[in-house]
Amino acid sequence: MAFRRALRAAAATAALALVAAGCGGNDENTLVGSAEDGKLTVGIRYDQPGMGQRRVDGKVVGFDVDVAKYVAKELGVQENGITWKESRSADREKFLENGEVDFVVASYSITDKRKEQVTFAGPYFETGQGLLVRFIESSIAGPEDLDGKRLCSVSGSTSAQKILDDFQQNVRLVEYGQYSDCVTALLAGNVDAVTTDQVILAGYVQENPELLKLVGDPFTTERYGVGLPKGDDEGRAKAAAAIQKMISTGAWQQALLDNIGESDYKIPDPPQITEQ
Ligand code: GLU
Repeated sequence: MAFRRALRAAAATAALALVAAGCGGNDENTLVGSAEDGKLTVGIRYDQPGMGQRRVDGKVVGFDVDVAKYVAKELGVQENGITWKESRSADREKFLENGEVDFVVASYSITDKRKEQVTFAGPYFETGQGLLVRFIESSIAGPEDLDGKRLCSVSGSTSAQKILDDFQQNVRLVEYGQYSDCVTALLAGNVDAVTTDQVILAGYVQENPELLKLVGDPFTTERYGVGLPKGDDEGRAKAAAAIQKMISTGAWQQALLDNIGESDYKIPDPPQITEQ
């Protein structure tokens, strides 16, 4: 991976020429090529309990982390060969495009717009956008109650985009760089609600059940994919096969039980893999 970055920086044009000429086997711009030295750099979240979280001892935990480890293992890369890199909502396309990460597992919804820049494998999980409010909140029971309210979400997310598209006239959207900052603002009384995927919000509720609650039904469908550099069809096939194996062996179910089993979020059925 380090080699890949150096190569890109020093000789991007030459590398491109080689690829264009069809020389070389698995080039370094593909998942399989990157994994050849037993090392991968993976984009995850650091602040989403249950999904991707970096603990104070430096260990990363969560369902996304387990999916990432499983995919890496299927490519021949063990856990100690993985370098984790925090990849917030607005960073993911950029990090994949400039080679800062080899793949992304970070509550990353598959969308047609993102597919213009990114190749996805999956989905490996399905959830939907919801609302998080303070436990004592009585005036917000769902998205229909957001008129005049201050709503927090994260830049570069489908959650913020949904609010801009469908609720913009009535809602005051506050955008931060990560959801944990929205939760801090909510607890401080600086915003009235936080919106993103329910499985993420449920993780914050689990950390603070006496202070926070989820309200309303999900109002979007979010299908989480493994993000790969655009055009890496072989990588997509390998990652999709890994997800399929994780599901069929029961490792998928176990990882969900381990990571979100204690939260109020009901573990869904495994999704149908469409990007493979
Ligand atoms: N799944 C949504 C997205 O990809 C929201 C969660 C996030 O920001 O990571 O934008």
